[in-house]
Amino acid sequence: MSKQSEIPGVAAVIAVASGKGGVGKSTTALNLALGLRDLGLRVGLLDADIYGPSVPRLTGIHEKPALDDNRKMIPIQRFGLSIMSIGFLVEEDTAMIWRGPMVMSAITQMLRDVAWGTLDILVVDMPPGTGDAQLTLTQLVSLSGAVTVTTPQEVALHDVRKGMMMFQKVNVPLLGIVENMSFFLCGHCGERTEIFSHGGGERAAEKLGIPFLGRVPIDPAIRAGGDTGNPIVVAKPDSPQAQAFREIAAKLAAALQTGEAGAAKSRIASLLDKIKRPATGN
Ligand code: ADP
Repeated sequence: MSKQSEIPGVAAVIAVASGKGGVGKSTTALNLALGLRDLGLRVGLLDADIYGPSVPRLTGIHEKPALDDNRKMIPIQRFGLSIMSIGFLVEEDTAMIWRGPMVMSAITQMLRDVAWGTLDILVVDMPPGTGDAQLTLTQLVSLSGAVTVTTPQEVALHDVRKGMMMFQKVNVPLLGIVENMSFFLCGHCGERTEIFSHGGGERAAEKLGIPFLGRVPIDPAIRAGGDTGNPIVVAKPDSPQAQAFREIAAKLAAALQTGEAGAAKSRIASLLDKIKRPATGN
């Protein structure tokens, strides 16, 4: 197993993970990166979702990165972020059929052969789930913490625990849970509809003893921003949706600064201890 290492010039690396695909992990990673940018931080975004890189679509970037004098790839600059994606190098569908060793070498290149420059935070959009690609990533780079994105219904929440255990195994502190597609606010009548039930993310966070970072509504403007390469924090910076992402970003930054990462780590250790014990009663 390779040893974890720091990325030169990058102060903190945060993984944005999810138990399963389609919960809005990439959308959240991008908009959180933008929220961190709005705090005045120098932020990079690495799309490591090797099996289905969606950052090219979400950002509208369709160019190949140039190489510097050391033959390292120069991340693309967009929205004030330094952005790199495997999708800049291969067609979106190509990586889906890669086998283990190719996936590992692609992930290694994304981490080692990119000239990130000086960054306060590198946000890594992880592949969904808990397979080899995810583990490779956590072993290659020293992560300051991980954020898990989920939707509120039970079937999604079940996978949150699995994802958490993976990070625990490799000693990555869990910074918290983001509940995406939390509710729908009708643009016509203003009524709030909880499509995927209410408060699942918050309950899961409480049960698991990790911070709940906040809710993002399910909203056509967020989807439209994703389809047109115009993320909501850029397209409608004053909207409540953008505000939701910025608040979560602020909580994240605070957690990193105040050593919440260390505290979260020990809370997870005691939780896993509980999970391992046989259930008693009720
Ligand atoms: P994942 O990375 O988990 O597979 P994506 O971020 O690619 O998910 O999002 C999947 C789809 O859902 C995209 O079309 C995206 O625009 C849309 N989406 C994500 N979050 C929201 C939201 N809060 N409201 C509406 N659509 C969303």
